[in-house]
Amino acid sequence: MEVSFYGHVRQYHNLKEEIDRAIVDVLESSNYVLGPTLKRFEGELAQYFGTKHAVGLNSGTDALWLPMLALGIGPGDECITTTNTFFATAEAIWFTGATAVFVDSEPKTNNIDVTKIEEAITPKTKAIVPVHLYGQCAQMDKIAEIARKHNLLVIEDCAQAIDAHGDTFRVGELSDAVGTSFIIQKNLGTFGDSGATMTNRDDVAERIRQLRNHGSPARSKHSMGFNSRMDDLHAGILSVKLKCITAWTDRRREIARMYDAALADSGLKLPYEMPGYRHAYHLYVVETMNGKRDELLAYLNKNGIDAKCHYPIAIHQQEGYPWGKEARIVGGVPNSEWNAANCISLPMYPELTQDEIDYTIEKTLEWCKANA
Ligand SMILES: *Cc1c(COP(=O)(O)O)cnc(C)c1O
Repeated sequence: MEVSFYGHVRQYHNLKEEIDRAIVDVLESSNYVLGPTLKRFEGELAQYFGTKHAVGLNSGTDALWLPMLALGIGPGDECITTTNTFFATAEAIWFTGATAVFVDSEPKTNNIDVTKIEEAITPKTKAIVPVHLYGQCAQMDKIAEIARKHNLLVIEDCAQAIDAHGDTFRVGELSDAVGTSFIIQKNLGTFGDSGATMTNRDDVAERIRQLRNHGSPARSKHSMGFNSRMDDLHAGILSVKLKCITAWTDRRREIARMYDAALADSGLKLPYEMPGYRHAYHLYVVETMNGKRDELLAYLNKNGIDAKCHYPIAIHQQEGYPWGKEARIVGGVPNSEWNAANCISLPMYPELTQDEIDYTIEKTLEWCKANA
């Protein structure tokens, strides 16, 4: 049996009529860039997040980078984040000219260890950039408290955590801005690249709207900016898919419960859900306890199961990592390094069939028994 890591085409087939209609509507409208379809989707997105603004952009990377610029982050500033995340989190910081300061993750959730943040704060610290890794929110209540105390900005990386929430907070509620990604493999994905920034701040939203369009405040007027716009075609597609996101997350959580139950005695470290949090299970990541991650990965792949690793190389372990003034590690990052060495992502998407789930469980347990 082959178990794919993604269900993109199945999802398209399930929504084919509506998605095709949305595409044709844009094609027939003669409005393809900064048109009414994008405007409508931005309204739906802001309403969905419960934020005052949503600004459609070309990618999740720009959805993190542009709010940082809008908030005045630049050379000489420091931003505190984690190293066990997708490269773009740090890239966004670096492209402003600021320094990324990595603190360790905590082993249960693999999110930023909030007890390690304060020791990393210096007079140069400007922002905290928590990542809601794998689909579970970082402890935003604690992070917001630290930010208030030290007068810091907070930019949330929500690329993996659309439809997640904390026990007492929503994404976007306790920060200056949230960046998310709509690249196809994310929980809410278009057929290509897109992203959006959500914020409750009028000044930030207005500045990002200018920055995404060559710094233009009005037609034919320019200051410095970029071309970072979301196409109306993507907005039309995402508008159809946004209506499904809650049901899709519910299904992901149902599959997670099946994996949890079946793998409880496997000897693998399973995902931990914070009490009261809604984990959106962008990824279902287990960790090997015997140092044999690569063997388990090879065994699953050999048996037709397309398991992957997120992320086998932490950012500070990357070649080309800009050591020196652009990056700093505070207090060591042993948990993040352990996560990189032992993580393995099992197939996780709403369109998985019961047979595929059962087969994935069977092969995983088979390997665990042989390697106990
Ligand atoms: C996907 C992702 C991004 C970047 O999104 P793009 O749309 O690919 O630019 C940033 N941060 C995290 C944690 C991601 O998973």
